[in-house]
Amino acid sequence: MRLVVLGAAESGVGAAVLAQQKGYDVFVTDMGAIKSRYKEMLDARGIAWEEGQHTESLVLNADEVVKSPGIPDTAPVVAKLLAQGTPVLSEIEFAARYTDARMICITGSNGKTTTTSLIYHILQLAGEDVGLAGNIGHSLALQVAEAPHATYVIELSSFQLDNMYKFRADIAVLLNITPDHLDRYDFCMQNYVESKMRILQNQKEDSVFVYWQEDEYIPKELPRHAEPCRRYGFTDAPAEGAAGFAEAGKFVVQLPFRFEMPLAELSLPGKHNLRNCLAAAIATLSAGVKPEVVRQGLSDFPGVEHRLEKAGTVGGLHFVNDSKATNVDACFCALESMQTPVVLILGGRDKGNDYSQIVPFVQQKCRALVFMGVDNAKLHAAFDHLGLPIADTHSMKECMEAAVKLAQEGDTVLLSPCCASFDLFKNMEDRGEQFKQWVGQWRP
Ligand code: ADP
Repeated sequence: MRLVVLGAAESGVGAAVLAQQKGYDVFVTDMGAIKSRYKEMLDARGIAWEEGQHTESLVLNADEVVKSPGIPDTAPVVAKLLAQGTPVLSEIEFAARYTDARMICITGSNGKTTTTSLIYHILQLAGEDVGLAGNIGHSLALQVAEAPHATYVIELSSFQLDNMYKFRADIAVLLNITPDHLDRYDFCMQNYVESKMRILQNQKEDSVFVYWQEDEYIPKELPRHAEPCRRYGFTDAPAEGAAGFAEAGKFVVQLPFRFEMPLAELSLPGKHNLRNCLAAAIATLSAGVKPEVVRQGLSDFPGVEHRLEKAGTVGGLHFVNDSKATNVDACFCALESMQTPVVLILGGRDKGNDYSQIVPFVQQKCRALVFMGVDNAKLHAAFDHLGLPIADTHSMKECMEAAVKLAQEGDTVLLSPCCASFDLFKNMEDRGEQFKQWVGQWRP
């Protein structure tokens, strides 16, 4: 059997290693440059590879293809493979053939990384033999090949789900569906919705499906799904039949059984994180974790880097790094969770943002605004009329100096920029790192 891997990054290289171990004739090809670390992994195992091209004669003779989620079906070589009927799989689909491990899978438009990391944290606390896979951690395939676990917690994007067919999530979590990546779905929202709903496919009577019941799309889709799984829909406030919600200062789970703890004990702030915590609690209780361990995990979870990450308190000012907030929705969640007056840092590369959604919170919670970008004109147009103090800056250093000047003791300086980072930074991680570095060295 010949297996061709398209895209030689974490998932592709992992799939190649596993396929070779299982006796496939493996070939790896990448249109771009392959990172030296991955080349070394392939060379060390004698796996053939090429970069900078896809040589069709070496690809089209595959019996099966594992495709990186980043490559669209419209890429010429993929289109040819599909036209000739060659099966095209995601790395998760391929890896799952070779393990009986329990699969806990998380998808949604927002909150995947947070919820996946939280579930992993709770399972680790419970002493489970658990691996983290999908969009984070090492690829599932590499773990199955070289360091197998009894349970995997897997973050799934819609692109991975698109090429999954026989895979079953024993516990599936669907957080929400909001428009995203529509360029890969013929600009049709329903195509994207159906991709997300694939997380349910192949579920059995004892499988579990956890979802946010107040989502605009998920409840409408469910009647069309006949999978016999146990369905646990959670809500923000108490509702008939809901599997979990917040009520009068309490975090309440009703299904699979009653569990409660004070809301104030949750380590993650904000309403969006309440949903992530409900999903994680219902999933881990369903997985058999003891209630006291779930409670501890929800209380001491340190959070995920660059997502409402506490970057320290210096000179009476609290610094919060939410560099991952690259759209207005995410900044809205961040402002909603703020408990002190805020000096808000906004800006970067605008993706066609409509800032009106956050104006009420800016008026209610912000002491001042700091714009940080190559071009801040659109921010001025959206916020100048509010009459708040505003600083116009073009680098992290300038931005932070302005922010601490505008802030008063007890305030939070919040980096939640609503925009992509590529005008001034390598990526959102670089922006968050620079923010934290500045805070770390600041002496008021
Ligand atoms: P993803 O992995 O899906 O991109 P993350 O966990 O990295 O999600 O969170 C990204 C941003 O999405 C966060 O900074 C937050 O603003 C927002 N977010 C997180 N969880 C939710 C949720 N349940 N609903 C809506 N927005 C959320």
